[in-house]
Amino acid sequence: MKKLTIDERLSKNRFETDDHNPHIVIDKDACKTCSHRACTYCCPAERYKWDTANDKLSFDHVGCLECGNCRLICERLNQGVPGYSWNYPIQGMGVIFREG
Ligand code: SF4
Ligand code: SF4
Repeated sequence: MKKLTIDERLSKNRFETDDHNPHIVIDKDACKTCSHRACTYCCPAERYKWDTANDKLSFDHVGCLECGNCRLICERLNQGVPGYSWNYPIQGMGVIFREG
């Protein structure tokens, strides 16, 4: 059986995206001062990636599985410091699981 990539697996789910009201907000410039960048290791959907070419975090809330790992592991998301927030999507938005 062919092993699917994360993006291929995510494409089997459905996402109702709320582009005007993303449920996770981060400050990519402020993230440059983060000493651990643990979000890039904890996300099962690989939403957080460090862009080495631009020395900047890349993040896309579309595809988020709403597991909460990043909220637990990132102290800024966890404490809701300015520029960072984590909430579930509003009713009817977010992931609709079909795979994984
Ligand atoms: S763990 Fe939090 S502060 Fe650190 S890079 Fe990730 S989102 Fe930014
Ligand atoms: S809630 Fe889970 S799936 Fe969504 S961005 Fe955070 S770690 Fe990734």
